[in-house]
Amino acid sequence: MEAYCMKCKTKREVNNPEETVTEKRIRIMKGTCTVCGTKVAKILGKAKQI
Ligand SMILES: [Zn+2]
Repeated sequence: MEAYCMKCKTKREVNNPEETVTEKRIRIMKGTCTVCGTKVAKILGKAKQI
């Protein structure tokens, strides 16, 4: 899984990717940059209503 790292200013592989849903029902993937260790997040899209 790749996400944009703000510190490296480029896309990086993500350590320990974890999918979660925000209170606004947006699915995101959270993890840390494999190079610098900064937290990164990637928006996957809207979550389906249950
Ligand atoms: Zn980084």
